[in-house]
Amino acid sequence: MICENIGFDTNGDLTFAGQNTAELAVKYGTPLYLLDEDRIRERCRTYIGAMASAFPGNFRVLYASKASSFKRIYEIMNEEGMGIDVVSRGEIYTAIRAGFPLEKAFFHSNNKTDADIAFAMDNGVGFFVVDNAEELYAIEREAASRSIKQKILLRLTPGIDPHTYAAISTGQVDSKFGSAIETGQAETITEEALGLSHIELMGYHCHVGSQVFDSDVFIRAADVMLDFSAQMNKKRGYLTKILNLGGGYGVRYIESQPTIDISANIAQVGEFIHSKVSELGIPMPQICMEPGRSIVADAGMTLYTVGTVKRIPGYKNYVSVDGGMTDNVRYAMYGAPYTILPAAKICVNREKMTADVVGRCCESGDVLQKDVVLPSAIKRGDILACLTTGAYHYSMASNYNRIPRPPVIMLSAGSSYVAVRRETEEDITALDI
Ligand SMILES: *Cc1c(COP(=O)(O)O)cnc(C)c1O
Repeated sequence: MICENIGFDTNGDLTFAGQNTAELAVKYGTPLYLLDEDRIRERCRTYIGAMASAFPGNFRVLYASKASSFKRIYEIMNEEGMGIDVVSRGEIYTAIRAGFPLEKAFFHSNNKTDADIAFAMDNGVGFFVVDNAEELYAIEREAASRSIKQKILLRLTPGIDPHTYAAISTGQVDSKFGSAIETGQAETITEEALGLSHIELMGYHCHVGSQVFDSDVFIRAADVMLDFSAQMNKKRGYLTKILNLGGGYGVRYIESQPTIDISANIAQVGEFIHSKVSELGIPMPQICMEPGRSIVADAGMTLYTVGTVKRIPGYKNYVSVDGGMTDNVRYAMYGAPYTILPAAKICVNREKMTADVVGRCCESGDVLQKDVVLPSAIKRGDILACLTTGAYHYSMASNYNRIPRPPVIMLSAGSSYVAVRRETEEDITALDI
């Protein structure tokens, strides 16, 4: 199986985190997001352990909470000693409601409004990751009006192609994110930041992309960022205190994708950074990483109930489920691959059929996956599981067609509980005047 938390019990039924998925579907209804809390905690510990041995006493691991944002996840991150990334007022507010200590939060986004900046400052967000010069001055103004000195990092684009989907590639020079090193804008914004009296420049940030499998991406990024840091030291006498290398480790959605050994990879990045820093003769900065997907993705699974099974002779087959692009927009957005299989063993016969698994929205693009091989006996009422849906599913869910969003059910130590309740039609009309 693509992840060790997935298995089959003695009846041949699909299990997740050791629990029978078909029974969970009955208990909570479908569509249903499951999240394996123990797996999430284990991932946090893997990162923290690897970073602690690569950069002893001087590192941070931040959970990029846009991957999956709701109150309970911030509580778990706090318990595990993680910092967080936030990208909006909504994420900050959710973290506040969860009691997360915001001095450990880094506020990203390529376009923070003045109101966003004020809200984040008033609530004590520790660090702003500044995208561009216009934003730098907006932060200076808000900080000045509060007579505070705001800690910031500057987001730079190191000019690296991570070989992933274009829509989630962010480190190249022409990206909408950050200030480019190649064009000289990174140097200019450093000078500007150093000249502002309500800004405390703590260092630099980069994030080159997501769902990245190239093992040397972080090394290439660190190489460029440390060269730049050394230059700023030489030219401006500015020493980088924090270097944040972003997130992006890929996860396995299908068997043919590799598994990344995160501990081994971070150890390599650590070796590289130590030797590079001594070669450049600069002090070792605090190193941060901010994984999102690789913390939560394979801790997730979505369960659906099959509705219409449509066979168009000589053309193709469709299996429709009671969810779709409203709870999983990633196939529609990126053509992302998924593993989809029945939750309960279907043993009427061994015959297989190929079908597109589609959602219930009035939209032909509402596809979860094309050409899925399923038992040909599949029928209305059967439960289907879509694997690896912990990242960018609930957080990207919509109410298109006024479809309520599924609940988030946490699985831990053999039991389950509701972390986010199922949305109702009443919730959906609650804003209509
Ligand atoms: C999205 C994002 C991340 C997390 O990326 P993953 O691929 O989910 O690990 C980290 N940092 C920044 C700035 C991001 O925008």
